[in-house]
Amino acid sequence: MLNAVATGQAAFSFSFIEEAHLNIVVCIKQTPDTAAKVEVKDGHVTWGDSPLVVNPWDEFAVEEAIRLKEKHGGKVIAISLGPETAREALKQAVAMGSDEAYLVSDPVLKGSDVLATSRALAKAIGKIDGVDLVLFGKQAIDGDTGQTAIATARRLGWSPLTYVAKIAEIDPAARTIKVERLLEEGRQTVTSKLPAVISVVKEINEPRYPSFMGIRKASKLAIPIWSAADIGVEAGQVGLAGSGVAWPEIMPLPAREAVCEFVEGASPAEVAAKLADKLAAEKVV
Ligand SMILES: Cc1cc2nc3c(=O)[nH]c(=O)nc-3n(C[C@H](O)[C@H](O)[C@H](O)COP(=O)(O)OP(=O)(O)OC[C@H]3O[C@@H](n4cnc5c(N)ncnc54)[C@H](O)[C@@H]3O)c2cc1C
Repeated sequence: MLNAVATGQAAFSFSFIEEAHLNIVVCIKQTPDTAAKVEVKDGHVTWGDSPLVVNPWDEFAVEEAIRLKEKHGGKVIAISLGPETAREALKQAVAMGSDEAYLVSDPVLKGSDVLATSRALAKAIGKIDGVDLVLFGKQAIDGDTGQTAIATARRLGWSPLTYVAKIAEIDPAARTIKVERLLEEGRQTVTSKLPAVISVVKEINEPRYPSFMGIRKASKLAIPIWSAADIGVEAGQVGLAGSGVAWPEIMPLPAREAVCEFVEGASPAEVAAKLADKLAAEKVV
């Protein structure tokens, strides 16, 4: 707080209270489109030329980060670890309303499992000053482990708050947060200190479409690339060498054989009765 007092007949006192604001990092992964045909070819997983998109769960994380910024002030910084193509995912986050974006990309990162990915993400987050909150999607639709947020939180030494369906309160000045976690049994309210790491579920919000202004900003914004050296990780700590998991064999599921049979009858009641008999015979009901 700054005070300025003028002397003389009148005395004026000006108080400038420094508003607390939030620095929010949102981690996004570029994944194949949900409609992509994922196949195993020559022992490798491939989705051919299918379009790449922002992992659908991560759109909810970006939206929530922007809403928090709109409410409390501060900025949203999007980070993605991946190949050059992941720049497009970052552009979408900027077009939605993120302020800055960084791509963590380096040939030595190829083959990273969650152990290595979280190491690199935590190092990248550590490069940014004064981070209050890191948002993740619940899971990536390709890797599907749902572990990256927790592993990154562990490496940062910050509280992990997973399956968050609502940020009930956040007090940047008091450095506290209260969230509702969506569990199978119901909702659980959890409070934590900031900084914290959150993974969000789709119930948290409705992601906005990128605005025209946002798309223009994204097309002009330079997205810096951080190499492994830039974030301070050595080749042996990431990629296949820094991973704990190996994929010794990948095989496609055997094709399912399905038989289609039309149930016919003179009336809807007869069709329903025949269908019920067949389901009972197959022990489905
Ligand atoms: C041996 C091995 C080799 C692999 N090789 C490769 C490879 O060469 N290339 C490759 O792309 N994947 C590779 N993978 C998969 C990759 O390691 C995982 O996709 C990654 O660790 C994240 O795990 P996940 O996809 O299960 O994400 P989840 O844990 O399900 O994702 C949760 C959230 O974490 C965030 N997140 C996840 N990944 C990223 C990311 N990269 N950048 C920013 N945020 C992220 C998102 O917010 C996401 O919603 C490999 C895995 C193994 C085990």
